[in-house]
Amino acid sequence: MASILLRYGLWVVLIVLVAYVLRETFEGQAFAEMVSGSLLEKAGALGLLLIAAGAVVGIFEKLFSKKHSRCAICKQKIAYGEIYCRAHLREILSDEHDRLHKTQTQLRRPRGL
Ligand SMILES: [Zn+2]
Repeated sequence: MASILLRYGLWVVLIVLVAYVLRETFEGQAFAEMVSGSLLEKAGALGLLLIAAGAVVGIFEKLFSKKHSRCAICKQKIAYGEIYCRAHLREILSDEHDRLHKTQTQLRRPRGL
């Protein structure tokens, strides 16, 4: 939403600047009379307003966006960037520990015998 507002605001300001340059370049011709100074001022103000609104909306989006991830196993909401919920993380670490422990004991047994 913020990026859309910023983009439209920048386009409006750019079009106003181009229209201003064309109006000043072709002074006294039909195009210059078609584009009045008050129209350019209003359009420029609208463009600046859109840019300001886009900046404000962007700040609010960053403040209130709650990014969540989901646990890979139970799909429970968890903090952004995590893979597993606390219970499944403990389970996986415990399994890993057990597997590592078994491997070490299996490697030690032949030496001990
Ligand atoms: Zn889980």
